[in-house]
Amino acid sequence: MRSVVALVLLCGALAPASNGQIASRSGANPPPPGAAAVSLSDDRAPVPVPEPSEKAIQFYRSGNVLWCLRALWELAVPAAILFTGFSARIRDRAERIGRRWFFVVVIYLVTFMAVKYLLDWPLNCYQGFLRQHAYGLSRQSFGRWLGNSLKHLAVDTSGYVAFLWFPYLLMRKCPQRWWLHSWLAATAAALFVVLITPIWIDPWFNQFSPMKNKALEADILALAERAGIEGSRVFEVDQGADTKAVNAYVTGFMGTKRIVLWDTIIAKLNRRELLTVMGHEMGHYVLGHVAKGMLFGAALGFFGIYLFARLSGWLIDRFKGRFGFDSVSNIASFPLILLFVSAGNLALDPLILAFSRHLEHEADRFGLEITRDNRAAANAFVKLQSENLGVPRPGLMYTLCRATHPSPGGRIDFANTYRPWAKGEPLSYEHLFKAARSDKVATP
Ligand SMILES: [Zn+2]
Repeated sequence: MRSVVALVLLCGALAPASNGQIASRSGANPPPPGAAAVSLSDDRAPVPVPEPSEKAIQFYRSGNVLWCLRALWELAVPAAILFTGFSARIRDRAERIGRRWFFVVVIYLVTFMAVKYLLDWPLNCYQGFLRQHAYGLSRQSFGRWLGNSLKHLAVDTSGYVAFLWFPYLLMRKCPQRWWLHSWLAATAAALFVVLITPIWIDPWFNQFSPMKNKALEADILALAERAGIEGSRVFEVDQGADTKAVNAYVTGFMGTKRIVLWDTIIAKLNRRELLTVMGHEMGHYVLGHVAKGMLFGAALGFFGIYLFARLSGWLIDRFKGRFGFDSVSNIASFPLILLFVSAGNLALDPLILAFSRHLEHEADRFGLEITRDNRAAANAFVKLQSENLGVPRPGLMYTLCRATHPSPGGRIDFANTYRPWAKGEPLSYEHLFKAARSDKVATP
């Protein structure tokens, strides 16, 4: 959902915290029972950063081209709909059918979203389905991809219909201060969306359940207990039918906050690696990264919506003949909002991504401090790189414009070297750890 409610977007970028990656199913030998919470690997030899495969380099390069194309597309489509007067024509039709203001808004939004879905479809199909199969990253059937894409359309359209009428009403009733009230409403709406997503939206796409591997669950719960997280907050989701990639993430807010493990990561990572990934995710959870991301998004949203309120009047005055409307309170101005959000995302992504990488680095630190299993963490990052076709040290432009996480090479280096406990130095997050229960014995 891309709207002035850009908070949701930001959380989307922050919450799905990828990690660990795979390699062998066989799994390294587990550390002593009691595991994650207290394990100390004897093996101090650094894990080398692997060279990327030819396929990974190709995936990286073509991904950069695709990123540029997508950025241009996200600007060009709303601009074209706006400057050709097509948006005004959709509004005219909505007015003929809907008659009353609220219904006109609803019919406009539904029609607009359908048109944009069709225009975006070829690029989305290539990026989300064809390209994933071409690089061997997907297991998804075309029918399932199409079904999911239509479900996303339904969720996005419902979201716009449910929330966007309110700022448009404010623009009419309160032309001077609509932006401030809209920002407050958008912040509340974003909180609500983050709160309900894990329980009302995500289950529409996948099945979520308690962990099936009970021995592993016991290890994870022991680690969670040490991090101060209730065990019922760990879920497993079936992703194996869709993708070969591996992931885990923290989502939700307050009562719906949880850690979710893809079943693919459970199948592909060995136990020690998986526990270091869980340590990283628990870092996100305990350090409140979803809430911090939302605060950050709310601050950016405040300036964004103020700037839009100042600039939109000037733009509409200048181009009203082409646009076919003369006030931002006209629902035909919706593509102007999208255009502004796309331009804002492009301009602010370096800042947003730097913030995201900072949170990811702190989650890595938390994971290392709570597991103290440097070697397993480094191996997990090696597998992440190879399985997800990552390159260890991407270029500056990639880092600035695309990287939500520190580079795989940087993460491996950090996992190889971060051992303050070995030197008697203070840890950053140890004060958050609960005492390990001495009766906790891991299952082999
Ligand atoms: Zn993360």
